[in-house]
Amino acid sequence: MNDKQEKESRDLTRRLYFEDAYRTEFETLVLERLTYEGKPAVALERTCFYPESGGQPPDHGVLHGVRVTDVQEVDGKILHILESEIGPDRVKGIVDWPRRFDHMQQHSGQHILSQSFVEVLAGETLSFHLGEGASTLEIGIAAVTEGEAAQVEKRANEIIFENRDIKTYFVDEDKIGSVPLRKPPKKRGSIRVVEIESFDFSACGGTHCRRTGEIGLVKITRWDKIRNNIRFEFLCGGRALRDYSMKAAVLRSLCRQLTASEEGLPAVVEKLMQENKSVKRDMRKLQETLARYESLEMIGKNPGKTISAVLAEKTAEEMKLLALNVMGQGLRCGFCAARARPGAPHLRPFGQLEHQPARPRAHRIFPGEGKRRRQPIAHRDGVGEGLRPGKYLSKNT
Ligand SMILES: [Zn+2]
Repeated sequence: MNDKQEKESRDLTRRLYFEDAYRTEFETLVLERLTYEGKPAVALERTCFYPESGGQPPDHGVLHGVRVTDVQEVDGKILHILESEIGPDRVKGIVDWPRRFDHMQQHSGQHILSQSFVEVLAGETLSFHLGEGASTLEIGIAAVTEGEAAQVEKRANEIIFENRDIKTYFVDEDKIGSVPLRKPPKKRGSIRVVEIESFDFSACGGTHCRRTGEIGLVKITRWDKIRNNIRFEFLCGGRALRDYSMKAAVLRSLCRQLTASEEGLPAVVEKLMQENKSVKRDMRKLQETLARYESLEMIGKNPGKTISAVLAEKTAEEMKLLALNVMGQGLRCGFCAARARPGAPHLRPFGQLEHQPARPRAHRIFPGEGKRRRQPIAHRDGVGEGLRPGKYLSKNT
């Protein structure tokens, strides 16, 4: 939006959310009826509804009893996108307060976190996104340690616990130089400043808490490298509390299952993983031994040069071991592995393999994972009767 459009828009609709972020009810006149992406929309004389911008999502709520599902600023107009048409020109609007307050907590928390990154790591905020789940900040630093992230988080929470004032006001462009803004403003004309008492000054059009204490808590939950920067995920207020509750429930459940304390959990998991590795190694040895014996038994029962068999309940890996042993005796083999269907006397083929000793690359396994496993390839009554391996030795079966 250019300066002219923005000025026109300001003139067209009085933005009550700039004057009071806590106001949720208002009466107003419908100025224009339009459509937005095929849905009915209205522009109003004044509004408490915040349109999506600056990384903050739009407000939701109701207008004359009809749900407002989106609010967008298009060509200088604030469009209230509605679930259905509304009739009268004079309407009452109600903003969904829990959603608005959640956005206030996340957005005010973001300003504090951004300035904490500047203070602690000289890291500039390159972008901010307030998501449905978590919010993200891309910070212009190449790397970060656990300790550094903890320091930034500690500083941000100090500012929250000090319950500092958050003020918003407009400053003319020619006087904005006297305000120590964290970043130069993107807009021109009258610039809205969000000031966190003696800590941060930002040019911002978002809705904010009155005092930092209302943010409750800010928690950095993870970070990833993106381009040459670090993108941090964070949660504030109610979101941080819900995340804490969820994580505490997961921990309690794991501690119960593993009979461990919270502090002792990593050591118990490490021990279990080591035991699992050792069990897998032992099982592999047993499978190899079993395959040796089974192959000898098969060869004993089949006097020909090719062994064909339907193998119930064998995995692809077990089939392969068996085939390698048969091949070791200079024979060819073709196997079809099948699994009994629960509750039905059927075998469902889920993998096949053929193996020729003369051509090492000729063996193929079609394990039938994923969709193939769920979709029966063929059913036959009886245990393996009528299942001829040759029939299943192509990818199309
Ligand atoms: Zn902001």
